[in-house]
Amino acid sequence: MEAKRYVIAMDQGTTSSRAILFDREGKIAGVVQREFEQHYPQAGWVEHDPMDIWSTQMGVTMEAMQKVDARPEEIAAIGITNQRETTIIWEAATGKPIYNAIVWQCRRTADRIEQMKQEGWTDYIRKTTGLIPDAYFSASKIAWILDTVPGARARAERGELRFGTVDSWLIWNLTDGRVHATDYTNASRTMLFDIHKLDWDEKILSYFGIPRAMLPKVYPSGHLYGTTDRFGGSIPIAGDAGDQQAALFGQCCFDAGEVKNTYGTGCFMLMNTGRDVVLSQKGLLTTIAAGTDDKVQYALEGSVFIAGAAIQWLRDEMRFLKNSPQSEEYCRAVKNSNGVYIVPAFSGMGAPYWNQYARGTVVGLTRGTSKEHFIRATVESLAYQTEDLLTAMKEESGLSLRSLKVDGGASANDFLMQFQADISNTLLRRPASVETTALGAAGLAGLTVGFWLGAAGLAGLTVGFWKDRKAFEASWHCGKEFSPVIEDGEREQLLKGWRRAVRCALAWANDEE
Ligand code: ADP
Repeated sequence: MEAKRYVIAMDQGTTSSRAILFDREGKIAGVVQREFEQHYPQAGWVEHDPMDIWSTQMGVTMEAMQKVDARPEEIAAIGITNQRETTIIWEAATGKPIYNAIVWQCRRTADRIEQMKQEGWTDYIRKTTGLIPDAYFSASKIAWILDTVPGARARAERGELRFGTVDSWLIWNLTDGRVHATDYTNASRTMLFDIHKLDWDEKILSYFGIPRAMLPKVYPSGHLYGTTDRFGGSIPIAGDAGDQQAALFGQCCFDAGEVKNTYGTGCFMLMNTGRDVVLSQKGLLTTIAAGTDDKVQYALEGSVFIAGAAIQWLRDEMRFLKNSPQSEEYCRAVKNSNGVYIVPAFSGMGAPYWNQYARGTVVGLTRGTSKEHFIRATVESLAYQTEDLLTAMKEESGLSLRSLKVDGGASANDFLMQFQADISNTLLRRPASVETTALGAAGLAGLTVGFWLGAAGLAGLTVGFWKDRKAFEASWHCGKEFSPVIEDGEREQLLKGWRRAVRCALAWANDEE
């Protein structure tokens, strides 16, 4: 066991593939990243070449190992985390994809989903899968490929084809076609998976004409999926989780009421709700959290469409900033936003409001409004939108907030983090390393214990790189904490103003003649 020095996280994202080697302290020993091509065959369509996904992921992993001179015997395990929902179908016999990967962002099946909603499926989908019918999820993408590629459905029925999200595709290739599997978190984003029974749902499968034979076996995120011989020695693949759930795990949000929020272009927030399935009335999604056994925990998931993107708008369209981090100096140059609120509803508003016609709104301008106030109001809008999601999650789950952990590019903004702590009246913690997604995948793999068959047919016991969750948690290092400092009265005033501004954005949408 002592010879094992690293766990590899394969972080397969929408625009790039990365490999990170973590040591037992959770420190990054080596990292390599490579972008790959995006294909846009028509307006609103997005595809990847599955071979690009595979070859870049292999390439970066080998390079990362070389970078630190890691031999295969020194790798305790591989954990995979991936862009979710993206759909690949390949031939079982040859491993050749029959169509490009249809990426989660792709809207080509929007009409099909509209039809499904009109046929009254919304409630069934929500109760069974925890999701709201949408073209993002894999189900309609699989159906599209089976409908479009000549002969595909008949071949799928004969058992000749395999479907997988990106994790399954990587596992299949890493094991040379021996293993066709996925994990609960990825399965829960296909819109085909019954999150209560932990099985594919017959009714939805038959609605889309998807044969069960093409679907992967589903396991806990921490599980011994198989071994790969691709790196010059046998390495167990012991972790698999969708990116957001991996981040929840990497942030060590193991208990009900613990929340992580990622401040990127948009915000992605997940709340662990424990063993309870909380079905939302406010447009939050219910999903399975990553774990290491069949007693799954669930999570509520919500997103803010425009977060860091609003800062980019200040930089690129308003030309108020040279770069995003500069927003912080402007925020600190004034003592408040001087009554200005900006609701960056550039493409409508998501949970808990759900109005696709809402548009960006600025309220409270006076002759004294300066550029600093305008910038500060925009930065504050990230915190207010986050607070709206948090409030919805607390209300619907009946849980109180136990901790708020943050990551993502804009979490580097200390002003924003302090304002968030103030507005949400909570202690907020930012890890020293914001690579939480990859750390989560590594953690899942490194915590898994089981028997495996080595290349020479020898059985081994793996992985136990971290003895237990506590040992793994020791690898989560807090970078900075933010505690609320404002009075309740001030907080209420600020929130009241924000809600009034949101009503203005909604009124703009609803008043159209
Ligand atoms: P993504 O993964 O969505 O591409 P990142 O996690 O890399 O996003 O975060 C980038 C986003 O964060 C950009 O929208 C950028 O404008 C914003 N951002 C980065 N640094 C700061 C900062 N110091 N203050 C405010 N926003 C920032």
